[in-house]
Formats: sequence, C-alpha cells, structure tokens
Amino acid sequence: MDHDMYPRLFAMETRMVKWLHQLWNGPKGVDIYGTATVGSSEACMLAGLAHKWNWREARRKAGKDTSRPNMVTGGNVQIVWKKFLKYFDVEPRIVPLKPGNYRLTAEDLDKYVDENTIAVVAIAGQTFTGEDDDFEGIHKWLDDYEKRTGHNIPMHIDGASGGFVNPFLYPDYKWDFRWPRVQSINASGHKYGLVPPGLGWVVFRERKVFHEDLVFYVNYLGGEMPTATLNFSRNGFQIAVQYYMMLRLGFEGYKRLMQHTLDNAIALRETLVQSGYFEIMNTTQRIPVVAVTLNKKVTRFNEFDVSNKVREKGWVLSAYTMPPNAEAVRSLRVVLRPHINHNVAQELARDIISACTYLEEHGGNAAPPELHAHPDRSSRAKC
Ligand SMILES: *Cc1c(COP(=O)(O)O)cnc(C)c1O
Repeated sequence: MDHDMYPRLFAMETRMVKWLHQLWNGPKGVDIYGTATVGSSEACMLAGLAHKWNWREARRKAGKDTSRPNMVTGGNVQIVWKKFLKYFDVEPRIVPLKPGNYRLTAEDLDKYVDENTIAVVAIAGQTFTGEDDDFEGIHKWLDDYEKRTGHNIPMHIDGASGGFVNPFLYPDYKWDFRWPRVQSINASGHKYGLVPPGLGWVVFRERKVFHEDLVFYVNYLGGEMPTATLNFSRNGFQIAVQYYMMLRLGFEGYKRLMQHTLDNAIALRETLVQSGYFEIMNTTQRIPVVAVTLNKKVTRFNEFDVSNKVREKGWVLSAYTMPPNAEAVRSLRVVLRPHINHNVAQELARDIISACTYLEEHGGNAAPPELHAHPDRSSRAKC
C-alpha cells in the first residue's frame, strides 16, 4: 500500500485507474483520481464519503443546515450501502421494490429526494436479479428536479459486477460517466474483473470530486505519500494480477470471456424455463446471473426445497425472499463465473430439474427463513 516503498505497484494501480476511467467513458483532459481498495465495500464507502463531504461544503457555503444528510437508493441495494449509511451517519432513504419490478426507477423519487440528498446510488448488475437500475430515467428525473428546485444531486454507480461486464459487452449502452451526473463508479476486481479476492476499484469523474480534505499526507516509511483509503496495509498482489489480466486478455479477451459466460447463463436460464417449473425474474439482465422463481402452478414445494435438494449434489444455490415490498416473491439465483463451462452449466440445470421432479412427487417442507424479522437482515450475505 505504501506508494513510496512500492513505486512499481503504485504505477500499475495508477495505470489501472486511468484505464477504468477510459473504459467507463470518463471525460477527456481532466485530472483523474481513483484508487484500488480491498473490495467494492471499501470503494463504496470512499465514494459515499466524498459525496457527503461535497454536499456539506456546498451547504456550508450557502449558509444552510448540514446536520441531516441522506442518501437515496433502491431496496435492491447491496448490504455495504446500509453499512455506509449507519457507520457514517447518513439517513437511509430506500425506495421499496414491487413484485415484478426489482430495480430502482424514477417512479417514486419525489418522495425520497430532497435538498439533503448527498447522492442517488444506482446499481449496474444488482445482487438479486443481475439487472441494472434505470439510469436514464433517474438521471432525467434529477435534471428535472434541478430545474424545479435548483438542487444539483450527483449519482454514484455501484458497478461491483457490471463495471467489468458492461464496457466489454455493451459498449453503446450508457451506464457510466457518459451521464453527467455520474460522479463516481466502483467495481470489484474479484468479481468479473477476474482477480482473486480482495480487490475493488473506485474511480471519480475527476479529481476534484474526491474532496481534498479526505486525503492524508503521511511520512511513514520514507517520502511523503498521500493516502485516502480506509485500510492502510493490504495485499498488493491483486493489483499486479489485475494489471496482468488487463494486459494479457485486453479488451477482446475480456469481451470473449464475458460473452461466453453470458451465453452459458442464458442457456441455463432457458433450460430451466423450458422445464415448465420456472419463470424468469430478470428480463432486463445484462450480467451472467440467472434469477428465477417457481411457476405459480408449483404448489408442492418451494425455492428453499430446491436449494436444499441440489445441495445433496454439492451445489450451493441461493434461495431468498426479495426485499420490501416484494417479500411475497421468492427467488433462486445462480451467478455464473467464467470458469463454469457449458457442460457444467448444463449439469447444474439437470440437477435442478431432477430435484424439482423429485419434490413434485414427494413434496417439500422447507419454510422460508425469517429474513425480514430484522429490517437489515433482508440483504444478508447476498454478494
Ligand atoms: C458484491 C457487491 C458489493 C460489495 O463488494 P465486495 O467486493 O464484496 O466488497 C457491493 N455492491 C454490489 C452491487 C455487489 O454486487
């Protein structure tokens, strides 16, 4: 981590940040800033802090109250944002989902956004269904809100998964810095970045978005070094691996791998749907995630029974009830990783379907866990 002691690693990190800024269509000719982190969690915390600091400074300059910052995001948000909001004392404004719509859209924003909103967080490749939030709709709503009220509210994109998929598979799709309100983006190197844990990235639209007040200048192991992460010591090898993967695979390599993985996901999804037991939950999905729910005709067993049954074969399938207000919907989710080849994906499909055939005959008895007994339990361990 010490840039002064490990200058070559720091050079790799700096180059990666520049590449990500380019891949995510950051503006040209600006002073770029970003950093490697332990994962997206640390990256999200840093971005959240930057937005809190910027909001507070703007409020102070305007002579306004700075005691009640809030952040707006959807019920599909990953647990790290709930941690950020609690640990850094920002009021959560979480827009509930609806059965059949599991993304944050502009629809209810007027009830949640106000002058104390430090940022709206939207997700590229969410953990529940793999879908993206409606960036365009949210952006346009915020433009309109600014016209009406004068409040200019930034967006952060949580691209933990999508950040390494969208640029390669959907270069014309606008999810990134092409939207002017998007001031920061994070991604997990250890998800579709193809690096072992733990590595994340946060990149800012330009340096001035990351408030200078958050940078510490330390003289620890030698020359003066600025530091702006939550962790100090960390493993550096992941940064070198990320750099190597980018050089080794290049744009075309990442694109081929992502396409291959997505094709496997879609083939798996189709086999499951053709079996007659399942319905698709994520029609607008972009990353290689399969999210299905049991067909209404299925009455003798539920998603938790299927998950328990395939565990006998060694598969660990996530089954869960959706966050509020879509708790009535239960889901089975498979995250396809690039090392799962077509044969293995088909084997999984066969094992899931034969579990269903068994359960249809013998019945199931799993009770959905009481996920919503505690408000924050709704997103536990969904990564
Ligand atoms: C995985 C994930 C995170 C947390 O990332 P880590 O790299 O596990 O710290 C945050 N947001 C989303 C959308 C995720 O999928």
